[in-house]
Formats: sequence, structure tokens, C-alpha cells
Amino acid sequence: MRKKTHIEPVPPDGMEILFFYQCPHCNRHVPVVNPIEPNMIVCEHCAKRFPIIPVDDSVLNYIRIMLAGGKAASSPDFI
Ligand SMILES: [Zn+2]
Repeated sequence: MRKKTHIEPVPPDGMEILFFYQCPHCNRHVPVVNPIEPNMIVCEHCAKRFPIIPVDDSVLNYIRIMLAGGKAASSPDFI
């Protein structure tokens, strides 16, 4: 006889923050995850490169702490 296993929904246990930068060549928006370094990025639409202003890592850490790494953002309908 086979037992049915019920798996409870799992809350988030980590988070990254997605930012968008407007490409100066084609004006479309390019997503970048946690852009904490002043890098050159490649536009996924026109394939041209452009430099970005990074975000402050302490701001990202603050958001992660505020949301307990994503757990505190869980929908209350599921808790
Ligand atoms: Zn572009």
C-alpha cells in the first residue's frame, strides 16, 4: 500500500533584489540583480554596453533584515 505524502508550502528563505537600468542606446529597461559594483552591463535588448551606478549594499542588507531574508514577506493567507 502506498502512502500519500503531504508537503507543506515552504516560505522564502532568501532574497535578492532586482533593479532596472534604462539603456542609453535603446531606452529599454535592463534587469540587474543586486548591482552593488560599478560595472559595465550589456543590454539584453540591443547588446550594447553601458556603465551603471551601483546601489548601496547597506540598503540591500537593511531590506533583507527588515524582511527576515524574505520570510517576513510571506503572504499572511498562508501562515
Ligand atoms: Zn539597449
